[in-house]
Amino acid sequence: MRSDVHEGRALLYEANSTRVLPVDDKDLMGKVYRALATLNAAASLAYRGAVPLAWILDYWHHNLREVQLGYELAVQSRESWRPMPWPDLTRLITDAQSYRCPACLSLSPQSAVETERPSMPPEP
Ligand SMILES: [Zn+2]
Repeated sequence: MRSDVHEGRALLYEANSTRVLPVDDKDLMGKVYRALATLNAAASLAYRGAVPLAWILDYWHHNLREVQLGYELAVQSRESWRPMPWPDLTRLITDAQSYRCPACLSLSPQSAVETERPSMPPEP
């Protein structure tokens, strides 16, 4: 994974604790947008059948849940954007929120129910 995409994703995870993105820093926001565009590309492939959606959700459901707030902040950060700049990613995040992971359920049934609460971000 390219390091700017990796850094952008780290900024998205950070937004869970800071509740903000570095919107005044063009460079950093460029990394955030590239990270979201990469995730959207993966989502596009999944919804067009090029890669199995179940595979994406199984591996990435935690990451996708944790980027939701950052994603929403990124969408709000540019007035010139259409309301939904990454439509497939929007759908994938929604699917990740309701995804019932067999491993999560067996490890901790309680935490699997509390999907709204972001946990510590794992390294992708
Ligand atoms: Zn899980």
